[in-house]
Amino acid sequence: MDQDDNASRRKGQPRVSPQNRPGPYAAMSPRAGDVPAEYSPVVPHDSADPRHPVDLHALAFIDPLTGLGNANRLRETVRAIATERAADPAPFTIGLANLDGFKPLNDLFGHDAGNEILCQVARRLEACMPDGSTVIRMGNDEFAFVLPLIFERKGAERIGYMLKEVLQAPFDLAERTVRLSASFGFAVYPFAGEAYDDLLKSADTALYRSKRRGRGQITVYSLEIAQEMRRATQLEQALRNAIIADEIDVHFQPIVSLDTDMVVGFEALARWCDRDLGYVSPAVFVPLAEERGFIDALSETLLRKAAEAALLWPKELFLSFNLSSAQLMDLATSSTVLAIIHRVGLDPRRLELEITETAMMSDADMAQKIVKELRDAGVRISLDDFGTGQSSLGRLRDFTFDKVKIDRSFVCRIVSDRASEHIIKAIVTMCDGLGLEVVAEGIEDFAEALKLKALGCGMGQGYFYGKPADATATLRYLRERYRDTETKRPVAI
Ligand code: C2E
Ligand code: MG
Ligand code: MG
Repeated sequence: MDQDDNASRRKGQPRVSPQNRPGPYAAMSPRAGDVPAEYSPVVPHDSADPRHPVDLHALAFIDPLTGLGNANRLRETVRAIATERAADPAPFTIGLANLDGFKPLNDLFGHDAGNEILCQVARRLEACMPDGSTVIRMGNDEFAFVLPLIFERKGAERIGYMLKEVLQAPFDLAERTVRLSASFGFAVYPFAGEAYDDLLKSADTALYRSKRRGRGQITVYSLEIAQEMRRATQLEQALRNAIIADEIDVHFQPIVSLDTDMVVGFEALARWCDRDLGYVSPAVFVPLAEERGFIDALSETLLRKAAEAALLWPKELFLSFNLSSAQLMDLATSSTVLAIIHRVGLDPRRLELEITETAMMSDADMAQKIVKELRDAGVRISLDDFGTGQSSLGRLRDFTFDKVKIDRSFVCRIVSDRASEHIIKAIVTMCDGLGLEVVAEGIEDFAEALKLKALGCGMGQGYFYGKPADATATLRYLRERYRDTETKRPVAI
């Protein structure tokens, strides 16, 4: 999913979500500044000049930027075909295409260049569409097509792949060349909806699913997809209610010094057990909250609860908290985080934030800024799940981290697999050279702990040292196990 989609979702306005789209026309009206005369094939006449009356009716069906039909035209065309085929309802297909990552391109090259790309996309789509089809610009970077001779899924997919290829070829922009990809959603009439609004909603659902799966995806609406989307929406509703009812909890998992076996901090992990849905993993509901635009509300509650719990621990113990990818694309994150811990009264030097490589990749500059502001305030930054993302080494050079957490997928094979052992050895040596601390995640038994110690890994975390537990059980754990590092005596907690 590209960054602009995530950004818009974060504000609670998924661009293509059928759940949140106010109506099929919501995105269509071109903004006033959208239409430089040189790109506009439709030049409205001066309405004050009686010799050239403006055909307002015709204009209502045209996208002024590209000269393609607009969403009004789509509605009219779909209704006309449906009426024509009323007696013998032969299927036809509508499709939606949404450019991936168009907003950053627009921001980078400017509005005029963005408009030029949209016009070129329009011309390409027109040129390659089968005879009898209609191409529409719905607004922004979204296009639609009506394909009267496509009757079923395979045909729609074939068109999707063809259009995808066509849009993948470079676009010439003055002296620059720009590459794009697009996501597609198709809906076949009448299975995906007999009424126009239902059919468009199905195409929108299919497009939304494509966007969720990454760039350049093609989805044709089906009942399974509808069910999957309904499940996600049910989960979303339950999660929103759980946040309001304060039912999302935080558990804490010890992070220990492998040298002394003594706990040095805890990672906060979100926990949700719904009355009807049962236990839902944070690996499911955190991405859902990100996607549906309410990760901020979730994360703020969790951080507040975690920080309040940490106040009751010995002061030398740190709190490690996971930041989600959407939060690394929102400049407000650093001030929000700092405001929360300030309000609770937790020293920023006791807070560590875990971020993943994948999260940083979406908008590296923004992530860099957020990380810098937080580090300037004394917060430490850990690179979570190290080894599972992309371009790990580049990230280590370009970013300033304090700690690296080696992913469990390496740790769980350290005893049986020599390659994993060598990889961990190399990471430990590299971090040593870069002055970074290292935590091995997911240590499940003594043999793994021993091996990691022998390789010089400083810290460990995993079921062997302690499973995540709630705030009360964590205090009990500390009372029973925590000792003063110097006197080796129990500490009053
Ligand atoms: P993570 O940050 O990499 O967290 C470590 C995960 O590994 C946790 O899963 C933890 O329970 C699990 N784990 C720890 N030790 C072991 C072990 O020895 N064996 C095995 N098999 N698993 C172990 P959990 O709690 O299900 O969290 C999954 C992911 O959800 C986290 O991965 C993190 O990315 C995300 N997450 C959890 N809580 C939050 C949160 O508050 N905010 C955000 N943004 N993400 C969160
Ligand atoms: Mg983590
Ligand atoms: Mg991890």
